[in-house]
Amino acid sequence: MIIILKNTAPEEDVEPLRKTLASRGFIVQELSSDGAKMFGIAGDLSGLSEDDLLHFSCVEKIIRVREPYKLAGRKFHPEDSVFDIKGRKLGGGHFAVIAGPCSVESEDQILSVARDVKAAGASFLRGGAFKPRTSPYAFSGLGLDGLERLKIARAKTGLPIVTEIMSAEYLEQFALDVDVIQIGARNMQNFTLLRQVGSIKKPVLLKRGLSSTLDELLMAAEHVMAGGAREIMLCERGIRTFETATRNTLDLSAVPVLRQKSHLPIIIDPSHATGYWHLVEPMALAAAACGADGLIIEVHNHPEAALCDGAQSVTPQVFRRIMGKVEKIRAAIA
Ligand code: PEP
Ligand code: MN
Repeated sequence: MIIILKNTAPEEDVEPLRKTLASRGFIVQELSSDGAKMFGIAGDLSGLSEDDLLHFSCVEKIIRVREPYKLAGRKFHPEDSVFDIKGRKLGGGHFAVIAGPCSVESEDQILSVARDVKAAGASFLRGGAFKPRTSPYAFSGLGLDGLERLKIARAKTGLPIVTEIMSAEYLEQFALDVDVIQIGARNMQNFTLLRQVGSIKKPVLLKRGLSSTLDELLMAAEHVMAGGAREIMLCERGIRTFETATRNTLDLSAVPVLRQKSHLPIIIDPSHATGYWHLVEPMALAAAACGADGLIIEVHNHPEAALCDGAQSVTPQVFRRIMGKVEKIRAAIA
């Protein structure tokens, strides 16, 4: 719901409305457009009557918002969101690349990759410390030791770190140490985790579930935002289809569709989407061409020996080439 306030309403007439809405537990977002002041209201609105609201002298008009994602949707926030995460801008024309290995394997490995991706122009370092693996016997990350090694790489390169949280057990640690918290495809609808991560109000990279619709992705973002966070990046990482030539099917139409529905930045992951390193470059270029706000790319210094996702990891040399071409595509469409 959007409540449009009268242009002439003095602040002392607005305050009782603000207080009433807050006391009923709604999330109130104060908006302005073309000089008009408005309140965007999110929450369970079933008991909120329009007639009651019209009793407040400051209220001009009420508009019902049909989409269930109020905070993630464009209606409450018509302009693209621009985030500034440790000096790295993202969204609204600012493009950012997140790069690094699937998982942190050792201090040497993460430092070497961090230095290489930074030199090639990456804005953020990725690396999994807690890995969701299909097999219980596969390498599942170094856990908190992995996080410590990521922190060392951040200290030595200055790159902010992006890493996945799998359970709220480590929420405090992530709040303290991680710059962007990744919620993986498999947890996109773990609603308890979404809320808990939202409550620490840190930037979040939210990956689309393997078989989730774009509306479900936006509702997942809404859960994180209802928890309190505002800086959410939506990540398309390929979906399940009947095609077996690639690990998943990259749904690039997600970019224009999400752009229309949401103000949040859109990141494409060509690594998990394709599963093969030689497909990462063409899909990264296609993502830049269709207007994505950024990329997340798996880079490994020895992909053939990687403990996780080696087949889809590019070498630092290939990553550098991709970065150069992405720049050219961006310049061409500007
Ligand atoms: C990852 O980024 O390494 C990862 C596990 O991604 P996803 O959740 O998209 O599979
Ligand atoms: Mn991976």
